[in-house]
Amino acid sequence: MAAKKLQIALYWGAACGGCDVAVLDTNEFILDVAAVADVRFWPIAVDGKYSDVEAMSDGELDLALFDGAVRNSENEHVAKLLRAKSKVLVAFGSCAYMGGIPGLANLVTKDEILATAYLSNASIEPGNQTVPRARSAVDGMTLEIPSFYRRVYRLQDVVDVDYFVPGCPPAPDQVKAVLLAVVKGELPPRGSVVGASERAVCDDCKRTKSEKKVKSFHRPFEIIQDSSRCLIEQGILCMGSATRSGCGVRCPNSNQGCRGCYGPLPGVSDHGAKFLSALASIVDSKDPKEIEHILDGLPDFISFAYRFGMPASTLQRSYK
Ligand code: SF4
Ligand code: SF4
Ligand code: SF4
Repeated sequence: MAAKKLQIALYWGAACGGCDVAVLDTNEFILDVAAVADVRFWPIAVDGKYSDVEAMSDGELDLALFDGAVRNSENEHVAKLLRAKSKVLVAFGSCAYMGGIPGLANLVTKDEILATAYLSNASIEPGNQTVPRARSAVDGMTLEIPSFYRRVYRLQDVVDVDYFVPGCPPAPDQVKAVLLAVVKGELPPRGSVVGASERAVCDDCKRTKSEKKVKSFHRPFEIIQDSSRCLIEQGILCMGSATRSGCGVRCPNSNQGCRGCYGPLPGVSDHGAKFLSALASIVDSKDPKEIEHILDGLPDFISFAYRFGMPASTLQRSYK
């Protein structure tokens, strides 16, 4: 008798779709997955309904990959639903793992976001500006839409998560590693970061490294860079020293600084603070005025250092 196929689900919360595409980027491997697994729910690819998932028994799914952050009540509802119905729930990609790029919204308030999108948006006709409400009366009925939360959350802020797969998006090899681990029943201890390394991106980077002393910082387009030399030594921000490796050093190999999408190294709780501490040690001055001038050259530092993990940081959001 044929072995019972694995039952899997994929869902996108506050996401861009890149993590779902990353699953397809495993190319022909996806056919191997299809041979051993039934995809029971995948909104971006299959016309399933929430009621299909609600009708499943608890633990009926072997694996659910949740990508995207939790931005609204719908995201939280599905996170809880998939948690109940899945034996293994994976925070898949930087948004689910750390809040990701949607998490940068935690630097402003909910009211500021709604006002920018719906009140001062030039594409909306004057007089028609209105902010969406969770409940509205329409033709004698009550129309309900998901509630937009005050801030962005990680998946683990709303449900227990079994495994974390970093990356924006995760590299195809990581996607394979997770799926194979489930297929073979060889999962690491619960709570592990799967498919990434315990080393730093710098450890895998082939650029030449020497003493790091920086007098000024630049955006990549502002200077002609030496493509064989460490970027940060040239004053281009690169979070490689503070970031978990596993992506194949994708950004420095493309002449861009690492922005930290694989998250902090093991044991580090605040990724941006760790990077700031590394950065402070390479500023080449003891003169407070000059140091201030050098630091003024850091382009939008908060959005750089917390680009993928504002909700995972110590502060989690800005406080006004
Ligand atoms: S982790 Fe990156 S690719 Fe995945 S949903 Fe978030 S923004 Fe998109
Ligand atoms: S700081 Fe960036 S460019 Fe320099 S060695 Fe580390 S990863 Fe490579
Ligand atoms: S180099 Fe850094 S930002 Fe780029 S993919 Fe790797 S971990 Fe992510």
